[in-house]
Amino acid sequence: MAHGDVCNVSKLTIGTHTGTHVDGINHFIKGGMGVDKMPLDATIGKARVIEIKDPKQITIAEIEPHNIQAGERILFKTRN
Ligand SMILES: [Zn+2]
Repeated sequence: MAHGDVCNVSKLTIGTHTGTHVDGINHFIKGGMGVDKMPLDATIGKARVIEIKDPKQITIAEIEPHNIQAGERILFKTRN
């Protein structure tokens, strides 16, 4: 309003890793599908929650015992 506008408006800029989010395949795999191309149905329905104990990363050693099947929806519960 100090510049003559009718109201004050704030602008907030955040990264895609802020809060709960979904990563597309292209997050780590070059040429993989981006989240913008992923079918929305892939995110709707029953899911299994796997708690991750490692405070820094999700490792194969930690998820391998969970025997994740192709097409299964998985939510990783991480420290953050
Ligand atoms: Zn991510």
